[in-house]
Amino acid sequence: MKKPTYYTTRRKFVKRISQGAGAGLFLPASMGVLGSACSSNQQSSETVTESTEAPAKKDRLGLALVGLGNYSKGQLAPALEQTEKCYLAGIVTGTPAKAEEWKQKYNIPDGNIYNYDNYDELVNNDDIDIIYVVLPNSMHAEYTIRAAKAGKHVMCEKPMAISVDECQQMIDACNQNNVQLAVGYRLHYEPFNQEVIRLGQEQVFGPLTGIDNAFGFTIGDPTQWRLDYERAGGGALMDVGIYTIQAACYTSGEEPVSVVAEEFKTDMEKFSEVDETINFTLTFPSGLKANCQTSYNKNYNKLRGEAENGWFELSPAYTYGPLAGETSEGPMDFPQISEQAVHMDRFAECIMQNEMIKTTGEMGMRDMKIIEAIYQSIEQGSQEVPIDL
Ligand code: NDP
Repeated sequence: MKKPTYYTTRRKFVKRISQGAGAGLFLPASMGVLGSACSSNQQSSETVTESTEAPAKKDRLGLALVGLGNYSKGQLAPALEQTEKCYLAGIVTGTPAKAEEWKQKYNIPDGNIYNYDNYDELVNNDDIDIIYVVLPNSMHAEYTIRAAKAGKHVMCEKPMAISVDECQQMIDACNQNNVQLAVGYRLHYEPFNQEVIRLGQEQVFGPLTGIDNAFGFTIGDPTQWRLDYERAGGGALMDVGIYTIQAACYTSGEEPVSVVAEEFKTDMEKFSEVDETINFTLTFPSGLKANCQTSYNKNYNKLRGEAENGWFELSPAYTYGPLAGETSEGPMDFPQISEQAVHMDRFAECIMQNEMIKTTGEMGMRDMKIIEAIYQSIEQGSQEVPIDL
C-alpha cells in the first residue's frame, strides 16, 4: 500500500492543494481574474473583452457572509481569521444587533454591512468579491441568484437549494453573470477524506466491495427552521444525509444509477413536517452498493469502505474535527485542519487563477437529483428508483 503523505502545518497543506488536488481543470487564460472565472464554458467574447479590463489582481479576495447564524459565527468567521487567500470583508444580516457586534469584533467598515433589503447594492462594492450564502436552505437560491446578478462569485451552503429546478436556476444565473459557484462541501480538501478518496478511487486495496456510511445527530429545539418544511425543504436527509451521498460518490469515484430508500419516524409531532431517519442504498454503475443512514434522532458519524484486499474507515468522518481514520494496515495520521479555511482559500485561489473548484454547482445539483430520487423511493413504498443524472 502506498504510504499516505503527512502534513505538519496547515500552510504546507494549503500549498499542496494549490499545486495539486483540485487544480485539474483550467479555464481559458483569457478569462481574466476577478469577476470572470466561471465553472461554465459559456463565456462570451464580450466577457473576454471585459476581463482584460478587470481590476488589478488582489492578493486576497474580500468575502461577505450572508446570514450570521451558528455556522457563520461558530465556524466560518473564525476560519476567515486563518485564511490566506480571502478575508472577511463584509456581512449581510437581518439583525441590527449582530451587525453592531460583528462590526466591532471583526473591524468591518460601515459601507460593507448590508441587510436583506439593500443586498443588491453589493454590485457597487469592489471590496467584496465572494458572497457566502449561509441562510436557511429555502433562501439559498434567491440569495445566490441575487449575488450572481451583482457580479459576485458565490459559495452557497449545502444543500445547494431545495429542488433541482432551483439548482439549475442558480447555475444559469452564475453562468450568465460570469461568476463561479461553489457549494459548501468542506470535506473535499480535508486530509482524512482526501485519503479515503485516494484509497477508494485508486483501488489501493483492490476494487471496492461495499460502502457503509452514516451521519446523524439528535436535533434539539423543536421550533428551529430545520424542522420547518418551508424553510428547510426536508429533514435529516437534506441536512446531514447529503454528506453520506457525497462520501459514497467521492469514495467510489462513481455516480449512482438507482436508489432504494425507507423512512422511519419515532416522534410524529416533532418530525411532522420533515424526515427524521432515512436508510437508503445507492447502486453504482460497477454494481457497487453504498448503504447510507441519516437521522435527526440518532448520533452516527462514520464512513467505511470494504475492498477485495482490505478496508478503510473514518470515525468520526464528517464533523469539523478532530477526525480519525484507520485502514486494515493501521491507523491514519493526518493533521487536523480548519476544513472551512482550506475550502474558502481554495475557492479564492480558483477564482484568482481561473481554475475550477471541485465543489461545483453542478455537483450540488447532482446531489439534489439523488435526494429527490430518495424521497421518490420512499413515496413509492421503497421501490427502486432510477437516478437520471
Ligand atoms: P442558523 O439558524 O444558526 O442561522 C441562519 C441565519 O440565517 C439566522 O441566524 C439569520 O441570520 C438568517 N435568517 C434569515 N432569515 C431567516 C429565517 N427566516 N429563519 C431563520 N434564519 C434566518 O443556521 P445555520 O447557521 O446552522 O445554517 C445555515 C446554513 O448553513 C444551512 O443551509 C445549513 O445547512 C448550513 N450549514 C452547513 C454546515 C456545514 O458544515 N457545511 C454546518 C452548519 C450549517 P441573521 O440574523 O444574520 O439575518
